[in-house]
Amino acid sequence: MDSPSSTLGATIDDIRRQNLAQVLRLVHRDGPMSRSEITRATGLNRSTIGGLVTDLSHRGLVVENPATTVRKVGRPSPSVAASDQATAIAVNPEVDAIDVALVGLSGRVLHRVRYRNERIPTAGEFVNVVSAIIEGMRPAFGDATVLGVGVALPGLVREVDGSVILAPHLGWRDAPIGRLVEEATGMRVVVGNDANCGVVAESTFGAGRGDGVIIYLNGGASGIGGGIVINGRLVAGEGGNAGEFGHTAVSTKGRRCHCGASGCLETEVRRDRFVEAAALGDVELAVVQEAMGAAWRDRDGPGGREIDRQVSRLAVALRSIVNIFNPRTVILGGHLAHLLAVVGEGELHRRIAPTLPGGGSEPVIVQARLDDELLLIGAAELVFADTLGDPTVMPTRIVERAFAP
Ligand SMILES: [Zn+2]
Repeated sequence: MDSPSSTLGATIDDIRRQNLAQVLRLVHRDGPMSRSEITRATGLNRSTIGGLVTDLSHRGLVVENPATTVRKVGRPSPSVAASDQATAIAVNPEVDAIDVALVGLSGRVLHRVRYRNERIPTAGEFVNVVSAIIEGMRPAFGDATVLGVGVALPGLVREVDGSVILAPHLGWRDAPIGRLVEEATGMRVVVGNDANCGVVAESTFGAGRGDGVIIYLNGGASGIGGGIVINGRLVAGEGGNAGEFGHTAVSTKGRRCHCGASGCLETEVRRDRFVEAAALGDVELAVVQEAMGAAWRDRDGPGGREIDRQVSRLAVALRSIVNIFNPRTVILGGHLAHLLAVVGEGELHRRIAPTLPGGGSEPVIVQARLDDELLLIGAAELVFADTLGDPTVMPTRIVERAFAP
């Protein structure tokens, strides 16, 4: 049985851990802040904040920069920021490329490598490519500490052991990706669904910052993924499949989807169908985007008609989503962001209407702000989650070097 003093000791430790986590999460999410701003934001007293910042700084998780002063009220004071000496390696396999990046605890992508696939890689080929890229990136680590590897994966993932249940577009089934990457790199590995990574990144650093209901839909090369964040928490669903908006039915006469149904959003609204309609051939993404703009200005051409069709189908899905969730913000990424950019938010709202009445409850529809770094930042968040939850416990199997005590 615990003596009263050890019980009391544990409680004080718990409170300190919670306070450290609160301060770290604050500067991680909101960027550099002065000690007095942190004092105001947390409600803790100034001397407590001083001790917490010093502790986090000794752990290598925050830096105090006298050169970057923050002045809101009163005298300027040095800024406290999440330290980019603490990093994660972020990985995103897609059908056409494998992206690997070093991401700092501030959420910045510090270094990035893109490997173009000649064909869709098998799980084994993916593991080989990733471990070779990480090996090649080691000089870029410098003296940073790598807390682990986060993988944003387009498919169904069992997060407890990082295995892929099904990644239909990659053709992977029951693949123990987490264990394989861990064995190949010697690093801790966390695997998550790519769209969930995306919505976490956008709601932490991007277009969805703040509380409320945030819906995210991303049109990638593998289809359409999505995610739901309510008051800062990801809604995973019973089996981790919540927010699979790609399989929302938008047409009764649509093409057959790999899921077995027909007329799913992700078979009806896709970049390659525009590329096909506009007869663009094999061109870079920037060329496709430009062609979408030009096609919309000339609506009567095959490209313009295809955009018109896709926007209408997207609106059908969004009408259901808006009625179900009553979101504050709908964030569109990838191809869907490009459609929004081409036709404008007003046009999309006109096609979504009518949704349930209620003044002022119409959501804002915006493009994902973190752009093509979104999934990598989200993959890094998978790794940072443990440290942000409890900064006193360093994840096991850290490579490179331990933090200074
Ligand atoms: Zn489907």
